[in-house]
Amino acid sequence: MWLILLLLLMTGTASASTLQAGAAQVNITPPAGAPMAGYYVPRVATGTHDALHVKALVFEKNGVKVALATCDLVWLPRNLSEEARQIIQQKTGIPADHIMISATHDHTGPVIMVHPSRYNLQGEMLHITEDYTNALPGRIAQAVILANSHLQPAQIRSAIGRETSLAFNRRYYMKDGSVGWNPGKLNPKVWRQAGPTDPSVPVVYVETPDGKGIASYVNFAMHQDTTGGLKWSADYSYALGKILQMAKGDDLVSIFTIGCAGDINHLDTSRKDPQASYEEAARIGAVLAGDALKVIQRAPIIPVSQILVSSRVLKLDLPHFTPQEVAWAYRTQATVGTANPAPFLDLVRAAKILEIDSRHGKRFDAEVQVIALSDQLAFVGFPGEMFTQFGLNVKQDSPFPLTITEELANGALGYIPNRQAYPEGAYEVVSTRLKPGAGERLMNSALDQLRAVFTAARAEVAAPTPH
Ligand SMILES: [Zn+2]
Repeated sequence: MWLILLLLLMTGTASASTLQAGAAQVNITPPAGAPMAGYYVPRVATGTHDALHVKALVFEKNGVKVALATCDLVWLPRNLSEEARQIIQQKTGIPADHIMISATHDHTGPVIMVHPSRYNLQGEMLHITEDYTNALPGRIAQAVILANSHLQPAQIRSAIGRETSLAFNRRYYMKDGSVGWNPGKLNPKVWRQAGPTDPSVPVVYVETPDGKGIASYVNFAMHQDTTGGLKWSADYSYALGKILQMAKGDDLVSIFTIGCAGDINHLDTSRKDPQASYEEAARIGAVLAGDALKVIQRAPIIPVSQILVSSRVLKLDLPHFTPQEVAWAYRTQATVGTANPAPFLDLVRAAKILEIDSRHGKRFDAEVQVIALSDQLAFVGFPGEMFTQFGLNVKQDSPFPLTITEELANGALGYIPNRQAYPEGAYEVVSTRLKPGAGERLMNSALDQLRAVFTAARAEVAAPTPH
């Protein structure tokens, strides 16, 4: 009798052949009175509209674990995601390069400390930001550790929805031949959008074998900058999560990640109605929730026989600036927070020059990461705000039936325009820290890794099961 029970238990433990999944979230809402990120002017939060979170999802199959975590933050500098990965590796045994940590590009979240800061923070504001930043890797790790402790048998459903009503390319060819950026509502000088949008809404729905929701993962390529105001908010992904929970249960962890959206926002310049409010964020979140629920309803179960991971760190060269340009940047930056701040694009260029100057020639580490579930589904992480054409290209050329691109993952290199955009200029090109061709290198690395991982997954499927 005992022997039989023991054997059953052993078989139970040995059933590592079942996919396991766990999800969790940790609140990272800063206190009122802390500085807000997202723009080039200092702002201080007056309270909370909806809480900010780190959300994490862990998968395990045949002893191989991966973690996906995302934070309701405008971005997460690489040193912080690296620190979080190290803590997670120590506490859970999940290897650091099996962990993808991204930011949702939420524009109503806190300032995260980077050197130099574009916000000229001093005194109390500086202390609040330093304390928050120092605590962040531990909070991110906590979410993953919790998700890891919730691992249970699971299955995933995944498919790709389509949404054409929300996103706009915010770069425009103007009738005078220039390229405009966010040219304003009903501007008669606009000719047409200067680039594409990405209508795909990839959804991964994680559930128990008897169909109880564990987590939803929704990805869309559009800036999270719709609420405005001085209250903490996760932007449109808040309403998305709320509605998915109403349909699938309050225990569902609703994860949103941003696709390649460097040049994409929600502003429809052909209509005059204002589009900065909590109501607008709720409208967008509701539309995406509808898209996601339609996908979940029809999405097939994805067979997962193994988990594969690939990651490469590329070295990206810095642009060069003269001492005169650096001196100009210091003078320009010093106007932030004064009664007479420099023009917007000057502030953008100054922040860029000072960041490059502070590196003393040290090239950027740009990690491109692929996490794949068998030969079916691949998550790709890019360390900055990739122009949407890159996401379209990666999805089109990827061998995987389902390919998801996450920007601002494992780093925050700012805007990553495509080659075509550089001579056209405008905001993202003025802002970018990277030389022309950097984005194409990242894209090609993603495609190389996708092909290699896919080939490995196929070879493994073809090989006899080891005993
Ligand atoms: Zn942005």
